[in-house]
Amino acid sequence: MAYAIGVDLGGSHVMATLVDEAGELSTKHEINLDDHTPSVVIGHVTTVIAAALADAKGAPIAGIGIGSPGNIDPVTGTIRYSPNFGWTDVALGEALRGEFTYPVFVANDARCATLGEYVHGAGRGSKNFVLLTLGTGIGGGIIADGQLLLGNQMGAGEVGHHQLRPRDGFVCGCGKIGCFEAQASGTGLIRHAFALAPSFPRSRLLDVDREKLGSKAIRKAAQNGDGHAKATWKNWTGDLAMGLANVIAFVNPEVIALGGGVSSAGVFMLDTIRPLVEELTTMVPRGTTRIVTALLGNDAGAVGAATMAMRGGLFAEERTPVRPH
Ligand SMILES: [Zn+2]
Repeated sequence: MAYAIGVDLGGSHVMATLVDEAGELSTKHEINLDDHTPSVVIGHVTTVIAAALADAKGAPIAGIGIGSPGNIDPVTGTIRYSPNFGWTDVALGEALRGEFTYPVFVANDARCATLGEYVHGAGRGSKNFVLLTLGTGIGGGIIADGQLLLGNQMGAGEVGHHQLRPRDGFVCGCGKIGCFEAQASGTGLIRHAFALAPSFPRSRLLDVDREKLGSKAIRKAAQNGDGHAKATWKNWTGDLAMGLANVIAFVNPEVIALGGGVSSAGVFMLDTIRPLVEELTTMVPRGTTRIVTALLGNDAGAVGAATMAMRGGLFAEERTPVRPH
C-alpha cells in the first residue's frame, strides 16, 4: 500500500492526514489559524504534517501534497497571491522542503478538491468532469480528457467569475456585478431572499439573527411551502441552472458534481436543477451531462492533495499514464 500526506490549508484552519492509494484518510491533525503571518502559518503546517507522518509508522511515503487558496506556482510551490491570507509571493514549498525529506507539491485548493473528486469521488470512471463547490463563493475545477485543466497562468477553472447578470445582479467579491458565484453560491441564496423581501412583507423568513440565517433554513422553508422561501429557491436555482448550462457549453463534461454546504439539499436541489439545465442546453445533446452531488465533502481537498503527491505533481499525467478507473 502506498501513502502520501494530504494537507488542506484554509483561511481558518490547516489539516493534515495520511492518505492511502484508495483515497482513505487516517487521523486528521488540525490547528486553527488566527494569525496569518507567513512564518506562523508555515510553523503550524509543519506541525500537522509531522503528526500525520508519525501515523505512517515507517511505511513508505510518496510525498506531501498541499492544497492552498490562491494562485500558486506549481513548480516551486510559491503562493504568488492569496487574498484569503493577504499573501504575496510566500515560498511555502521551499520552506517545507527545508523541513522534510519527502517531495513537496503545492497547488490551489479547489484544483486539489477537483482531482480528489475525480479520482476517488463523484468523477470516478469519467474522462470529462467538473466540480463546483457552492459555499461562500463557487470554487471548482475542470478535468478535460482526463487532465486537470490548469491554464496559462494556473487560473483555469475559475468559473465562479463568469457573469450571469451584469445589469441587475449582486455585487461579487471580485468587484464585478452578477458573477455566477454572487448569484448561485450558498451566500447567493441568502442574497436572493433579501432581494425578494419587499415582495413578501408578511414573511417571517428573515426574522432571525443574520449570522443564523443559512442556506439550509431557506431550503427547508421552501420544502415546507413558505412563499418567500419558494420564490427565493426559484430565483437561485434559475441562476444556478444558467451557470451550469454555460459550463456545459464550454466544457461538455460527462459529470458535474456539486459540493459545499448547499449540496446537502441533495435530491431536492437536483430535481429542480436538472430540467432547468436541460432547457438551457442547446449545442450539446440534452441529457448527456450527469449532475450529481459531490461525494467526498470537506475531505476532497486533502484527498486530492495526497493524490497529487502520489502522482508526482499536477503535470505528472503527461509523463506517466494514469491507472485506469
Ligand atoms: Zn466575480
